[in-house]
Amino acid sequence: MTSRTARTVGGVDRRSFLAGAAAGALLAAPRPVRAAPARVVVVGGGWGGLGAVRALAGRPGIELVLLEPNPAFVSCPLSIHYIVGERPFSDFEHGYATIDALGVRRIREAAVAIDRDRREVATASARIPYDFLVLSPGVEYVEEAIAGFAQARDRLPVGFRPFEQHAVKALVDRFLSEGGTFAIAVPKPPYRCPPAPYERACLVAEQIKKRGTKGKVVVADANPRPLPPPIAEPILEAMRTTYAGLVEYLPDHEVKAVNFEKGALDCGVVDVPFTHANIVPPMRAPRLLREAGLGERWAAVRLPDFRAQGDERIWIVGDAAGTPLPKSGHVAFNAGAVAARAILRRIAGEPEPAAAPTELPAGICFAAVTRDRAIMIAVESSFVPGEGAKSRFHVDPAPTRESSEAAMNWGRSMWQSMLG
Ligand SMILES: Cc1cc2nc3c(=O)[nH]c(=O)nc-3n(C[C@H](O)[C@H](O)[C@H](O)COP(=O)(O)OP(=O)(O)OC[C@H]3O[C@@H](n4cnc5c(N)ncnc54)[C@H](O)[C@@H]3O)c2cc1C
Repeated sequence: MTSRTARTVGGVDRRSFLAGAAAGALLAAPRPVRAAPARVVVVGGGWGGLGAVRALAGRPGIELVLLEPNPAFVSCPLSIHYIVGERPFSDFEHGYATIDALGVRRIREAAVAIDRDRREVATASARIPYDFLVLSPGVEYVEEAIAGFAQARDRLPVGFRPFEQHAVKALVDRFLSEGGTFAIAVPKPPYRCPPAPYERACLVAEQIKKRGTKGKVVVADANPRPLPPPIAEPILEAMRTTYAGLVEYLPDHEVKAVNFEKGALDCGVVDVPFTHANIVPPMRAPRLLREAGLGERWAAVRLPDFRAQGDERIWIVGDAAGTPLPKSGHVAFNAGAVAARAILRRIAGEPEPAAAPTELPAGICFAAVTRDRAIMIAVESSFVPGEGAKSRFHVDPAPTRESSEAAMNWGRSMWQSMLG
């Protein structure tokens, strides 16, 4: 239900949510008629949220609030090197001290509801009024798409959201010491970072070789070829040659159900047996956004500036936004800055730019094929009014050492821009 009057918000019905506000639970007093500063609330201290925060922090006339429940930022990009035991977790975890030093008011709570009529975000303990809202809470797994998944959730770590890497590492470590069949299930797009499941398959297979594990990786792919299409051939080539006998690739195998006790993925016609499983379920925008009427599966935004459709106070960036752009951290960070610029224009009372062809946020993604060879995928996108968005991919024809080194350098420079 997406109606703005009949919905529930974060599991709380709308009437009690508003009653709480009436009872004076607001963090701040009722908004003054329009005294400066403008309050911008950013939900999510990941790639997209930090893109907005860095572009807005320290600007005159703005009070900036960041809602992020985690104590630190953790990068999903490159964290495969932690999962397979090649790098420490500390390489991918970065604190928010710089954000605090910039004068951003960071609240370590999750947003549980958005009241668009009152322009408030609710957490478990407060209601926070906003003049402008930037939402970048990432993705939610569509668990009900795979029968049996929710029942075995604790034993089926996914590892496509920050901090979940620990549980996937423990799973990979168990497999590498016990042996067996490590099944990786890939959903249909759109999902976060399409090359990531294939990267995981390759790097787990590399550890099988290195540690002498008696076992193999099976990739049950809902798609006919690895994604995105420009990397399909180099990935398949690596599976056929570098990992001959260690990776079995099953195209058009969409997992419909998992029987954890039996150790089987039900792919419709056939069952894929496993001893250890890493199922990547389909994804969607988090419930917070859907319950606020901001979209169905993905949040509905207007390009080129990522403003929510039907709400001129809200911008939605990052993977939750339903755009044709790749769901990438680099794109999310740049989109956060685009949203911030649109907010700054609004605060300054400037008119909206006239519709014209515009560059959209660009991004770089890396798919490691071994611990020291990777494929680089660069994406440039543009928006033409009346025609929509178009993306151009530039991809290494084969994995290289240079791209692997570039990947870590890219990560360090992005984390520096976000949190340094
Ligand atoms: C294995 C893997 C490899 C990847 N490799 C690359 C790569 O090489 N290059 C690349 O560009 N991208 C890569 N990505 C994709 C990248 O991680 C995502 O596109 C990026 O994280 C999207 O940013 P986001 O802000 O939407 O979400 P996130 O970065 O996940 O941030 C969301 C934040 O919101 C917080 N949050 C969630 N709900 C709430 C709430 N209700 N209230 C407050 N806060 C909330 C979360 O705690 C989190 O900190 C990879 C992803 C994975 C999984």
